[in-house]
Amino acid sequence: MAFVITSACENEKAGECIETCPVDCIVEDQKQMYIDPDVCIDCGACEAVCPVEAIYPEDEVPESEQKYIQINRDFFKSRS
Ligand code: SF4
Repeated sequence: MAFVITSACENEKAGECIETCPVDCIVEDQKQMYIDPDVCIDCGACEAVCPVEAIYPEDEVPESEQKYIQINRDFFKSRS
């Protein structure tokens, strides 16, 4: 399992998560931040510091935000 960044990050990109992640698996583009599910160690540090509560454990992503699980995954697929 991994943590997932959802819509609240769009156009917000506060950035605390990137500084906090111990394994550097959070990357941003012009739109939002993304978590690499293959690298995330599930520590929860990013969730705790996000000022807009955009980050959830994968199994707790709200129904309306489910598509972000794939959006985070696809972002890293397109980079590899
Ligand atoms: Fe990084 Fe931990 Fe957040 Fe995963 S849960 S993205 S390892 S800070």
